[in-house]
Amino acid sequence: MIHRVGVSTKARVEFRDITGEVQATVKASGIESGICHVLVPHTTAAITVNENADPSVAADITTQLEAIVPKHSDYRHMEGNAPAHIKASLVGNSQTLLVEGGKLVLGTWQGVFFCEFDGPRNRTILIKIVPDEP
Ligand code: ZN
Repeated sequence: MIHRVGVSTKARVEFRDITGEVQATVKASGIESGICHVLVPHTTAAITVNENADPSVAADITTQLEAIVPKHSDYRHMEGNAPAHIKASLVGNSQTLLVEGGKLVLGTWQGVFFCEFDGPRNRTILIKIVPDEP
């Protein structure tokens, strides 16, 4: 079963902490131990795991991605959002997380982020939780 969670982003580039939504989905599944896959079915958005204690970390990541992938360059993609596609590929469209005791296993400072690179848009996150073999 695939769980679908909607995210409405508010800015062109935005890192949204979705740890709570993913954790709520794990809890609702009733699965105590296994693997939780989180994917975005989009070509200009991504998923990452990084520090959610200090919001300046996410700000630094977005700023530096902007420096690596400039807004204007010799892009061929006519839609005008080539940088968003490139950033989405650099960050990646999925994460695999561990579940134990009915909860996500994350480091103390880690959170799961939905990364918007071409917002604002209504987006969908796909979550599949696979239990351990009995
Ligand atoms: Zn495009």
